Amino acid sequence: MFRSIPARRAVHLSRTLATHASGTHGAGSTTYRSYAKKEIQTIYDTPLLDLVFRAAAVHRQHHDPSKIQLCTLMNIKSGGCSEDCSYCSQSSRYNTSTKASKLVEIEPVIEAARKAKENGSTRFCMGAAWRDLSGRKRGFERILEMVREVRGMGMEVCTTLGMLSPEQARQLKEAGLTAYNHNLDTSREFYPQVITTRSYDDRLDTISAVRDAGISVCSGGILGLGETDADRVGLIWEVSKMPEHPESFPVNALVPIPGTPLEGNERVAYHTLVRTIATARIILPNTIIRLAAGRNTLAESEQAMCFMAGANAVFTGEQMLTTPCSPWDEDKAMMERWGLRGMLSFEQSSVARKEGDRLGPDIPQPSAAVA
Ligand code: SF4
Repeated sequence: MFRSIPARRAVHLSRTLATHASGTHGAGSTTYRSYAKKEIQTIYDTPLLDLVFRAAAVHRQHHDPSKIQLCTLMNIKSGGCSEDCSYCSQSSRYNTSTKASKLVEIEPVIEAARKAKENGSTRFCMGAAWRDLSGRKRGFERILEMVREVRGMGMEVCTTLGMLSPEQARQLKEAGLTAYNHNLDTSREFYPQVITTRSYDDRLDTISAVRDAGISVCSGGILGLGETDADRVGLIWEVSKMPEHPESFPVNALVPIPGTPLEGNERVAYHTLVRTIATARIILPNTIIRLAAGRNTLAESEQAMCFMAGANAVFTGEQMLTTPCSPWDEDKAMMERWGLRGMLSFEQSSVARKEGDRLGPDIPQPSAAVA
């Protein structure tokens, strides 16, 4: 039989086990301990339940563990992309069932964001399938208007629009963009086997432009591309070396798409997914870790273990960009069963800080926010 630990000792224990921010790396108001790749590998290789226990302690030190950020994703321009990302159904190089479409009008976006908000989502993300925004002046203006409208609803608004120039990032910030998603996908070493049409450094340049514009960074990876443990460690290490840790780190489990080069890949093993989440939680203590594509393939108990290991955001709603998503009602019921609640908009203090004066009276201020 287990004996409960007195509350004060439990807090002390959690602090002893947690990884402390140590002031050796990072910009802005938060500094972090730097990790050598070997150190991250050692953490990653910890027996799994010990690793989850340690990650859970870090999670409790830096976040309210009962809070999950609910995000809803909308594909605002699908298919026909010139890039060759070997996992993606939207690349024009592969024969998949995804059809190319034009950029959607503003009205359906407002409608989808309103529905997401009514269902409890606090972040609305819009993705467009293209390499970059060059030659898309009118389309970009429409996207800026979408950003203004969604932000005007009091929601956090995120976009993923391929590569960005510093000037485009500045305009998105001015329109009210909260966050920009640009994944590193995998380690620098394995990356050329996944994508050849843009380099790892191209990705880092876009992330720098986003960061410099004062926009929160959302950058993570995909598991199940055929990478090794060392590549998963390499991805976390690359992200941890950024001048500031990204505010969000999405973890996607590849959903193999017929017609893509990775159609025959095996799903990533569940224990590998948990191990990666737990390691990321320890190395990136303040970052929100988002369970992204592939979550709908996990049993509820498997998702709960991911939350225990430090995941604290999900995509919820009708659809991911091209793969299925867990619907709001199922997620609400699941969260109720596990004692979880949705995060408020701008509850993450590092995100709220970037909003500055734009935070209205209806939105909680950073002092009341979680890490
Ligand atoms: S992941 Fe994005 S950039 Fe790559 S092919 Fe798909 S839509 Fe294009």
